[in-house]
Amino acid sequence: MGNLSTLFDQNQEWSDNIKEQQPNFFEESAKGQSPNYLWIGCADSRVPPAQLMGLGPGDLFVHRNIANVISHSDINSQSVIQYAVSVLKVKHVVICGHYGCGGVQAAYEDQNLGLIDNWLAEIQDVYRKHKNEIENNSSEEDKLKQFCELNVLAQVQNICHSPFVRQAWEEGQDLSVHGLIYDLKTGLLNDLDICASSAKEADNL
Ligand SMILES: [Zn+2]
Repeated sequence: MGNLSTLFDQNQEWSDNIKEQQPNFFEESAKGQSPNYLWIGCADSRVPPAQLMGLGPGDLFVHRNIANVISHSDINSQSVIQYAVSVLKVKHVVICGHYGCGGVQAAYEDQNLGLIDNWLAEIQDVYRKHKNEIENNSSEEDKLKQFCELNVLAQVQNICHSPFVRQAWEEGQDLSVHGLIYDLKTGLLNDLDICASSAKEADNL
């Protein structure tokens, strides 16, 4: 098993611990999933979704990418949204950004990084739209913090315009979309008070 032996050992220990608490856990879990939440967050290794909310296997349907971007042309994230909303019928979609996001910072600095520039262009659109507001902050740290928050807002708006979300609302499905931000320095989630539970609420964001 080469260099991965530590991971296999820890996995064995994790599985043993769960079975000790709940002997049938994995058998039951293998029968199917019905999570209440779709989490869309950054791929950053310091933002582990289930872990930071004390949740376990089966609780969260998860999609992660650099800087939690939802692009309508990205078949990966759109497929995740469709499956979670139309098939699993999750009740909440959570878009969670985080302060100190390397993707947002790279978009801000506008460096030449290769392929990722295409991805970051989505976030640069957010910057262009809110440039004055962001640049009004006195420190670089505050500018980036606000940029991270505005990126969450933009991605919540993108999700709310997804045809799958619109269809769910039209059909009266119980579904809310929320915008949160995680603080690496405290380990806490902050509610950005961005939430829509209907097309009307989404249009007012
Ligand atoms: Zn990030």
